[in-house]
Amino acid sequence: MLIVPEREIADLMTRDAAFDAVEKVFAAMAARDAYNFPVVREAIGHEDALYGFKGGFDQAGLTLGLKAGGYWPNNLEKRNLINHQSTVFLFDPDTGKAKAMVGGNLLTALRTAAASSVSIKHLARDDARVIGMIGAGHQATFQLRAALEQRQFEKVIGWNYHPDMLPNIEKVATEAGLPFEAVELDGIGEADVIISITSAFAPSLMADHVAPGTHIACMGTDTKGKQEVESALLAKASVFTDEVAQSISIGEAQHAVAEGLIKESDVGEIGAVINGTNPGRISAKQITLFDGTGVGLQDLAVAAAVVDLAVEKGIAIEVDF
Ligand code: NAD
Repeated sequence: MLIVPEREIADLMTRDAAFDAVEKVFAAMAARDAYNFPVVREAIGHEDALYGFKGGFDQAGLTLGLKAGGYWPNNLEKRNLINHQSTVFLFDPDTGKAKAMVGGNLLTALRTAAASSVSIKHLARDDARVIGMIGAGHQATFQLRAALEQRQFEKVIGWNYHPDMLPNIEKVATEAGLPFEAVELDGIGEADVIISITSAFAPSLMADHVAPGTHIACMGTDTKGKQEVESALLAKASVFTDEVAQSISIGEAQHAVAEGLIKESDVGEIGAVINGTNPGRISAKQITLFDGTGVGLQDLAVAAAVVDLAVEKGIAIEVDF
């Protein structure tokens, strides 16, 4: 069995490799070559932790496994460890033998950023020049860094519920040589692409805030009850997702579906757009919305890519197991 420790991931994994792995696995999901297993998520009654498993099998890429981990809210204060902790386990689909154990913390951020980037590549207008961020926490910086590679953006604008966090995304814009402007929510309509990545349980972005032709990637809602954008916005937009079942149950579309504003059949798969079986954006005035809920296959895809890179560079630790 191979081990790729968390400490090695930053030097091994590139944004390009994460993007390719995620784009490929979304396509495989839409072609029914890959599927996710039901998610397990439990409050374990210890340290207030939420622990669970996200797994799947990609028959096209021959990737089988799971990500185990969750959220330990006291880690940072008590132990100087980050609160999100996860590990990916890969298995040989021919034999069932454990194949690799890979640190999953940084990979989670990279695969989540890759997902919205894939949506921008396939759904945003080619002439998108202004990108708007809603959210300025840990994931937001990864999201912005990856998104900037998808179009010739000339300006970053941003809004955050906690304005004191905005320098986090301003720093990414500055590093990319782009101007940054903090805006009120009614100013976010200047953006051609909006990424929303917050832990909110009530909408910030309203349908009226968004101009025709905008692409929105809603990346924060991954649990029942969370919500980042007004349901009416989904009714106005063409909605796409990584996995429809998750989108309508734990993703941003859960609210619009529950309120009867859209139906399950209104939600398209981003993989079908990648495969060319769904046309995706068909006009410059259309609002497109990607509901990125986060699937186990994304984790397995980036973990398999990083194992290959670690083997190539002689960094993978081999243990007799
Ligand atoms: P974080 O704690 O670092 O940042 C949280 C962000 O949410 C900050 O910008 C904060 O200001 C904002 N926020 C908090 N309360 C708010 C409110 N009431 N209204 C509006 N904004 C509010 O968290 P993070 O690590 O950046 O994660 C952000 C979200 O992304 C979380 O909900 C997390 O579960 C989700 N996430 C999704 C995926 C996926 O695949 N879709 C993957 C990883 C994380």
